[in-house]
Amino acid sequence: MCQTKTNKQSFTIPETMKVAYLEQPLQVNVANAPVPHVTGKDVLVQVMAVGICGSDVHYYAHGRIGKREVQYPHIQGHECAGIVVAVGDEVTRFSPGDRVAIEPGVACMTCSWCRDGRYNLCPDVQFLSTPPVKGAFVQYLKHREDFLFTIPEGLSFEIATLAEPLSVGIHAVKRGHLKTGDTVVISGMGPVGLMTVIAAKAFGAKEIIVSDMEPLRLEAALKLGATKAIDISKQSILDEVKQRTAGLGADLIIETSGNTKALQSTPELTKRGGSIVVIGFPPTDAVPLNVTLMLQNEINLYSVYRYTNTYPLAIDLLTSIGSQIQHVLTDSYSLDEIQAAMHQAHTNRSGSLKVIVYPHS
Ligand SMILES: [Zn+2]
Ligand SMILES: [Zn+2]
Repeated sequence: MCQTKTNKQSFTIPETMKVAYLEQPLQVNVANAPVPHVTGKDVLVQVMAVGICGSDVHYYAHGRIGKREVQYPHIQGHECAGIVVAVGDEVTRFSPGDRVAIEPGVACMTCSWCRDGRYNLCPDVQFLSTPPVKGAFVQYLKHREDFLFTIPEGLSFEIATLAEPLSVGIHAVKRGHLKTGDTVVISGMGPVGLMTVIAAKAFGAKEIIVSDMEPLRLEAALKLGATKAIDISKQSILDEVKQRTAGLGADLIIETSGNTKALQSTPELTKRGGSIVVIGFPPTDAVPLNVTLMLQNEINLYSVYRYTNTYPLAIDLLTSIGSQIQHVLTDSYSLDEIQAAMHQAHTNRSGSLKVIVYPHS
């Protein structure tokens, strides 16, 4: 046992903690591991809530995403928030007792991309749970202080975990230069799509047209500010967009589903001079797109890879939305129940949105 004492709070930190190890595809076991010691600029965070992400589910089921392969045993989880319980000797911004959201990708901050403000492209980024870097399904996590962000008392840990997928949505609307009054189409209402609705609304979109095939997801989007929800198994999104824009098309299309057809339909939905932002990874590397139409209409195509400098705004937005976002958090499990939590996230698309794991309950 060791103790940290400050004028704020004192925490007793155990020698060992529970950790969830992915041992092979579809199998997660909970075991004990030493609690990390912190020095320098590192902070020890007692992890209070971790959201399960689509990428976690993909690694859990398939052991890889593209060329990135899991090295077993692996620790998953990167959408997390908690309480600072110890700090290294060079930490200046935090002290034990602070409540924080954890930005998962720790970049070098010295390479050309980092210096250019695009640290999501840093070749040396250490991103929680992206192999070989271990993740947040642990009780205590060591993380560098410049990637921690204070969260207000009124913001729960579980809602604070949404700062991660919301960051993707914020980055997407920034990349697509969303302007006040724009009509935006967002395809795919998984958690990232839903968070993109919040971002689009915050950046001033007038119309937010969303699509999916799951009623639960479409309903959630309407509650968060979508102005029209289209079930693409029953309705044509092209007809709807044409009708709502006097035949002109939408200013901005954001594709989050990773569905090939959804991606291929984007040029037709876009207004002349408008923009497409792609977030969702398609199942194949190459996808045919109508480039002629894009050239004739001078359509901009942007890709999104994670995010940069989004956490403060994401935390502000979540704080102002407050409990109105609670319906997105559909399932909760303890760390001991991690196998059931992963199974639920993997198999219950129609009944679950965000599955949250609580490492200390
Ligand atoms: Zn995520
Ligand atoms: Zn860098």
